[in-house]
Amino acid sequence: MVRTPVIPVIEVDLGPGIRAFFTTRDGGLSGPPRGTLNLGLNVQDDDEVVLANRDLVDVEVGAKVSYLTQVHGTVVQVVDRAAVGVERSRGTADASVTAVPLVPLGVLVADCVPVLLADPVHRVGAVVHAGRAGLAAGVVATTVGAMVDAGATVSTIRSAVGPAVCGECYEVPQALQDAVSDVVPGVRATTSWGTPSLDLPGAVARELRRLGVAEVVEVATCTRTDARFFSHREATANGEVTGRFAGVVVLS
Ligand SMILES: [Zn+2]
Repeated sequence: MVRTPVIPVIEVDLGPGIRAFFTTRDGGLSGPPRGTLNLGLNVQDDDEVVLANRDLVDVEVGAKVSYLTQVHGTVVQVVDRAAVGVERSRGTADASVTAVPLVPLGVLVADCVPVLLADPVHRVGAVVHAGRAGLAAGVVATTVGAMVDAGATVSTIRSAVGPAVCGECYEVPQALQDAVSDVVPGVRATTSWGTPSLDLPGAVARELRRLGVAEVVEVATCTRTDARFFSHREATANGEVTGRFAGVVVLS
């Protein structure tokens, strides 16, 4: 049976019985400049419109997605029940883990790295918001550890590193590049115009492989230059506040 999608999504294969995808800018109700599928609250969009956009994602998944109040930290929330009645946020955290079927987990981004994880053998899923600060603080390894605590084994975890600002675009001051490189191996990069930068998606993929995760799918598209996605840096350069797109994982 061919089902007509409610919204455009980029599906990734994390194994049997797992659905994982990224949303794009398209398919929602927000006006410019946050058109149209903005899923982020507090970005100068109308809350009712954002919640209606989130409803579209819920319909696409078939259950209410749990979102977090993300603060670039390393707290992992263990989600053990459906998000029914949760209007805006499951709480303050930058990753969530569940072993409960049909409880979708969502992560919101616009240049930071969305990471989707699932162990299709032991039935554990997770999402991570991995920006510069969270990555440096260890949010990826902390989340994999929380998955193991929930019953996963590292050698059967599969992962996807989603759309994020790339090393050719993410310019940072030399001192910041030095500081992050001290704690995140392989993150050092150079912009296309020859200045210091950070390759966050590359560093996340390297970290997942270092941890022993079985599979790392790299979507490998840049939010700054790929107009399908919201980009904080691109919007800021244009004097605008950008929206957020999502990565979602659900166990069937
Ligand atoms: Zn780029």
